[in-house]
Amino acid sequence: MSSRNGAVAPAAFPPPVDPQREFIKRGLDPEEELIEVGVAIIGGGTAGLACANRLLALLAEDPETMERLGEVPVAVIEKAKTSGGHNLSGAVMRPGPLEELFPDMTREQWREEGFAFGEVRKEAIYLLPSARTKVRIPPPPPQRNHGNEVISVSALARYQQRQAEEAGAYILTETSATQLIVEDGRVVGVRSGDKGRGKDGEPLSNFEPGTDIKAQATVLAEGCWGHITGAAIREFDLAEGREPQVWELGVKEVWRVPKPLDRVIHTLAGWPLKISAKYHQIGGSWIYPMKDFKSGEDLVSIGFVIDLDYADATTSAHDLLQQFKTHPLVRGILEGGERAAWGAKAIPAGGYWAMPKLSMPGAVLVGDAGGMVNLAALKGVHYAIKSGMLAAEAIYDALGRGSSSFEPYEQAVEESIIGQELWEQRNTRQPFQKGLIRGGPVVNLMIATKGRFPGGRWSLHRNDEQPMFIGNSKDSYPRPDGKYTFDKLSSVFISGNATRDDAPNHIRVRKHVPREIAEGWRWMCPAGVYEIPEDAPEHGEVDVIVNYTNCVQCGAITAKGGRLTTPEGGDGPLYQLL
Ligand SMILES: Cc1cc2nc3c(=O)[nH]c(=O)nc-3n(C[C@H](O)[C@H](O)[C@H](O)COP(=O)(O)OP(=O)(O)OC[C@H]3O[C@@H](n4cnc5c(N)ncnc54)[C@H](O)[C@@H]3O)c2cc1C
Ligand code: SF4
Repeated sequence: MSSRNGAVAPAAFPPPVDPQREFIKRGLDPEEELIEVGVAIIGGGTAGLACANRLLALLAEDPETMERLGEVPVAVIEKAKTSGGHNLSGAVMRPGPLEELFPDMTREQWREEGFAFGEVRKEAIYLLPSARTKVRIPPPPPQRNHGNEVISVSALARYQQRQAEEAGAYILTETSATQLIVEDGRVVGVRSGDKGRGKDGEPLSNFEPGTDIKAQATVLAEGCWGHITGAAIREFDLAEGREPQVWELGVKEVWRVPKPLDRVIHTLAGWPLKISAKYHQIGGSWIYPMKDFKSGEDLVSIGFVIDLDYADATTSAHDLLQQFKTHPLVRGILEGGERAAWGAKAIPAGGYWAMPKLSMPGAVLVGDAGGMVNLAALKGVHYAIKSGMLAAEAIYDALGRGSSSFEPYEQAVEESIIGQELWEQRNTRQPFQKGLIRGGPVVNLMIATKGRFPGGRWSLHRNDEQPMFIGNSKDSYPRPDGKYTFDKLSSVFISGNATRDDAPNHIRVRKHVPREIAEGWRWMCPAGVYEIPEDAPEHGEVDVIVNYTNCVQCGAITAKGGRLTTPEGGDGPLYQLL
């Protein structure tokens, strides 16, 4: 798959991984060796916890079904140190689904609990023609945010965890689900990962083997790149007849600022991206005000998102964010402030046609694991909450009938706000794969007509099929000054990342690849995981050094020719405010 001008596509160098063989376990261990739960929810993010919160509210009114689910009716399995530790979002949220989930709470109470930071009353959207200029444009309909709430998904997940625990959920944090257990064509639970293995997989003195967790229903809420979700999609052909999933990567910082920002700001396209078809960089930024109602502090959420379909191997979302902060528009907002948090995460961007089938015998997909993100609006939090709630309702109904078929959940998603909004934006991603200049006007037309014109079903190609060349984007990145602009390693440090130095490697990539691919990984990874030895040849194949303990589990490598698998539970970042 080497192509134009010697560019190389990562798809030609697939990672050494066989998801179905490695991540599907055929059959359960004997009864005495396993843990039995009613409903196992994999992932304590917004979606998984919304499922737990809603299910427990339903079960509280129905002691008979609660009893039938056994001693542990609802278990949430989360790989971070605490729920929220691995969650990151912009995050301006459409409030409806959260209001529905916690109907007794007011928005003031959300703010008092510390996960919400104020209602959006003003907004501005800019094109950036150059490093010093800006042009304000009216917000396109999907990007109107008036009345939405700025939140932190990481703080929201902590709140949801507390509510779930109080209602009777068993929350297993620091626990990775590493295998999906399938018996007689049906999902019957998951296996948790071993702990205490050394670099080469050898058991250390604190070794603890994983355990089979048997469940009457399993909810896959693993977020943007699901390790066992991917295996389930293959095992049950859930992506058959759909478009391939594609991704974007966002890098975010939270700043303490001396004066409050009074509006939500977005920038689209333009500087610092190279939007020509050759470089094919498409992306944008956000700046959101966050008022901490507990401390009275003024904070700002700022981030840069890049479509992972770019062609220049030296594209780096982290460095583009640093560059973006040097624009006078941004500098004026951050001036006199200090950085309080940093993190990175990928976003599923394919939309409606790329969503897999959402149910299989014994299990369902919710939130980002099911590809439920509206990229034109940069919104997924309200879908994560809504899909978690709908999954809870479908599972509750099915278990009440003694059934393990959760298919009604799919219809419920289709008829909800999720299906409606994603249908209207069904073709807004695809034209960008032809480049911003050719695709932009078509996208505008699609948005204006709510997808009716030009209509039809537009196809997507995978991000790893995009040939990459070594361009010069890297030459414009600013040298970190440690005050406004930062390097990757000091950023990983403030993410609270705590991966054991002698942990086994959880990143699967080929270690000997063409320089174009190796440079692509080196620049893309926001955590500086990939290195190329200094004495490596300028052309041809090079070795890649993988410093996997830096990984913040953003998931981007999976889009560009590698595979993020689950590390040992408890490893990775500990996000607080993201
Ligand atoms: C940069 C960026 C900006 C965004 N901006 C906005 C915005 O402004 N507004 C908006 O509405 N949406 C936004 N989104 C989208 C939104 O954040 C997501 O759609 C939403 O948070 C997804 O929630 P989730 O619970 O499905 O997944 P996640 O929040 O990713 O949660 C998944 C959880 O599962 C855990 N997990 C995964 N695999 C395993 C496993 N095998 N075992 C145990 N635990 C596991 C993870 O640790 C994580 O806690 C943005 C997303 C990004 C990345
Ligand atoms: S190594 Fe980790 S942090 Fe780096 S791109 Fe891959 S998943 Fe993201």
